[in-house]
Amino acid sequence: MSRVLSGTRPTGKLHLGHLLGALENYKKLQGQDAFFMIADLHALTTEYEHKTTIAQNVMEIVIDYLASGLEPDKCTMFVQSEVLEHANLALLFSMITPISWLERNPTYKDQINELRGKDLHTHGFLGYPVLQAADIAIYKAEKVPVGEDQLPHLELTREIIRRFHHLYEKDVFPEPVAVLTQVPKVLGLDGRKMSKSYKNGIYLADSAEEVTKKIKTQMVTDPARKRREDKGDPEKCPVFSYHKLFNKERVDGVADECRNALRGCVDCKMEMCGKLNQFLDPIRERRQSWMKKPKEIREILDQGAAKARSVARQTLTEASQAMGLLP
Ligand code: SF4
Repeated sequence: MSRVLSGTRPTGKLHLGHLLGALENYKKLQGQDAFFMIADLHALTTEYEHKTTIAQNVMEIVIDYLASGLEPDKCTMFVQSEVLEHANLALLFSMITPISWLERNPTYKDQINELRGKDLHTHGFLGYPVLQAADIAIYKAEKVPVGEDQLPHLELTREIIRRFHHLYEKDVFPEPVAVLTQVPKVLGLDGRKMSKSYKNGIYLADSAEEVTKKIKTQMVTDPARKRREDKGDPEKCPVFSYHKLFNKERVDGVADECRNALRGCVDCKMEMCGKLNQFLDPIRERRQSWMKKPKEIREILDQGAAKARSVARQTLTEASQAMGLLP
């Protein structure tokens, strides 16, 4: 059975994009030898000025994990900073990683541009792919569920591992491969990719009323369809992209009625919203129930960290021996 590692940065509550892009995939992978971490050290790389929110966000993410159907007896859920071996292996990897490899990382420059209000000219931010390599290698993970934008990071992990093996003439880690998620990008309320930083998200923690209000008042439609009698182009409408995801059986009819101006956008939104809320209701119910059980959640995380630590400690010993730090 292949070992799987993936994680989520606790920078806020999870939205529909996370659910369909990552969590649905996690659900399929649990039951294999799967480790899912809450990557709080990674959150610090961009949120180091907001220390008070990270611990709270960790709890929100675990609740979202559990509510979306991850089961603690089928996978290992843990908090990254509670397994010190991540930081330790990252330090060892940092000794062998050329700075040029980090500087050429395409997402490094993109993020510096995108998050312009933040000072990201730090050692930690430049080096976060090294920490990511350690996160994967410390569990000898073979499969890493990622989106396409993460592929350069995974390649960097593979390069660091190859360099390690070359330098120390010992193969300690498998070279991990990507498990690409199949789901198309989920559009936000404004038609751009759903993202916390664009403030265009539908969150798993949103009530049905909140979701309805957001869709009614904020979700954009085909911009060329100004009046009810104008014919629409569903392929240019974010609402239609949701019909494709949550109202599959009606999708042809919706497209036809839109193209022939046989339906209004308000009715169209409300039909889609009903289906979306139906899909989210069981997740909300599980969310409510887990929110009342902080002790149980702590136990799940403690057990997860203990299991993760026992694997990580063994790998760190092997890496330290290969580098000559241990006999
Ligand atoms: S009718 Fe529906 S699919 Fe067509 S533009 Fe309006 S909201 Fe979009």
